[in-house]
Amino acid sequence: MLTERQDAAVIGGGIAGLVTANRLAQLGIDVVVLEQGREEHYLCNTRYTGGTFHLCLLNIMKDESTLKQAIIALTGGFVSETLAAALALDGRRAVRWLRDEGIRFMKASGADVHSWVLSPPSRNRPGLDWKGRAGDVLLRTLEANLIRRGSSVQRNTRALSLIIEGGVCKGVVAQQGEHDVRYLANAVVIADGGFQGNAALVKQYICAYPERLKQRGAGTGRGDGVEMAMAIGAKLVGMDGFFGHVMSRDAMTNDKLWPYPYGDSLATAGIVVGPTGERFADEGRGGVYLANAIAGLADPFSATIIFDHAIWEGPARHGFIPANPHLPAVGGTLIRADNLEGLARELHIPPSGLVDTVQAYNAAISSDKLKSLAPPRLTSRYSARPIATAPFYGIPACAGITNTMGGIAINEHSQALRKDDSAIPGLYVAGAATGGLEGGPELGYVGGLTICGVTGLRAAEHIARSRGVTSVQG
Ligand SMILES: Cc1cc2nc3c(=O)[nH]c(=O)nc-3n(C[C@H](O)[C@H](O)[C@H](O)COP(=O)(O)OP(=O)(O)OC[C@H]3O[C@@H](n4cnc5c(N)ncnc54)[C@H](O)[C@@H]3O)c2cc1C
Repeated sequence: MLTERQDAAVIGGGIAGLVTANRLAQLGIDVVVLEQGREEHYLCNTRYTGGTFHLCLLNIMKDESTLKQAIIALTGGFVSETLAAALALDGRRAVRWLRDEGIRFMKASGADVHSWVLSPPSRNRPGLDWKGRAGDVLLRTLEANLIRRGSSVQRNTRALSLIIEGGVCKGVVAQQGEHDVRYLANAVVIADGGFQGNAALVKQYICAYPERLKQRGAGTGRGDGVEMAMAIGAKLVGMDGFFGHVMSRDAMTNDKLWPYPYGDSLATAGIVVGPTGERFADEGRGGVYLANAIAGLADPFSATIIFDHAIWEGPARHGFIPANPHLPAVGGTLIRADNLEGLARELHIPPSGLVDTVQAYNAAISSDKLKSLAPPRLTSRYSARPIATAPFYGIPACAGITNTMGGIAINEHSQALRKDDSAIPGLYVAGAATGGLEGGPELGYVGGLTICGVTGLRAAEHIARSRGVTSVQG
């Protein structure tokens, strides 16, 4: 077997991998990036990204303690104090570091969350729009910087197993075309983007019917990192949660319906019902929570978003590429009827089931008893609106999975952990392959790009320090 030798090997050429590799090279560490994609512009979630750097949908430049508390509160304490502090402290540093690398940011709207968005952003139209846009430009820029620093992205190179000697990670074996190559390295960084593209792992941890989830990203996160880590006894955390959105079920077959528009603003303004017409999840907890709840149904193709004309003309028109008018304009099913019985019949839902649900829901709004509903309906993030103004609407829904939230447990230096929480020497994890940085019981969405930036910088800097580089922060 061919053997290569580097100080560090990074698995995956998305934002997490390229931030790690560039920071390593900047600090004088000899690094190679192994990337399974063959194309010059290989696909990955970063290539498709919307490009908003935020923490819990807050401006990343907000003061550290506000951000840290927001992360802990949103994830119901699932993210540890230490990791929350790392994200709150270094999110802004990641943005500034990227700016120094030549990445351009813009304020994309007046909303706090859009204060730091990759430029140029995607255009305001349904379907995929990545060429020459946010993530694509970022990847091209970071790869060019890496080459300028004397390193490279080795395409068509899929990492498949870790080399472990005496409990220490000493390298990785990868398949390069027809051949296996052994990359010996003092440090290996797993940055393979998660396991959403691995049907067996998704079935084991997330959804009995992985084929009934819409891949809302590139699907290139094949879970190789998780499988390599499992094979050496690493700790996995939060494996059952994913970042995603409520989508039109037609997105399964109509490419104009993903990654945008998605149905979160409709689902959180109206209700989401299952096959009997009953609500099954708290819509007030947001689109990521609802997407996970839909994935958890006995049949993930049995959810329907129900709303009325006031919602269709109100919240459905808000946000980026809103459902009104985009969803029906590109062929998404929008069922409309003058009364709820007629709507239920067209949706193949028992009419009495839907009518009872809507009546109970409307009554709970007017008597301020939404918390007593089963399931309850929170109003702290999204106000509940009565479903009372004809015509009434239904959209057959499905769950769109963008990337898994769980993965390999890390410490604040991005070192992979064993089940007893001790660090595995030589092994690091960055980006969507990590676990413990978002999710938890509330499925709190902390922010994928910020997680990538912070874990990538921290992995690189810890590796550099352990190689004797003294001029590194941290
Ligand atoms: C449509 C869309 C919109 C989004 N919008 C936002 C947003 O606005 N804000 C935000 O914070 N997040 C957003 N996200 C999520 C964010 O883009 C991701 O969290 C982030 O890009 C993940 O980066 P990564 O480097 O971890 O993974 P990726 O970008 O997926 O990169 C992983 C790379 O590893 C490679 N790879 C996988 N397995 C192997 C292997 N065995 N060997 C070698 N290579 C391998 C893959 O081919 C891939 O190139 C969005 C995602 C999508 C899809």
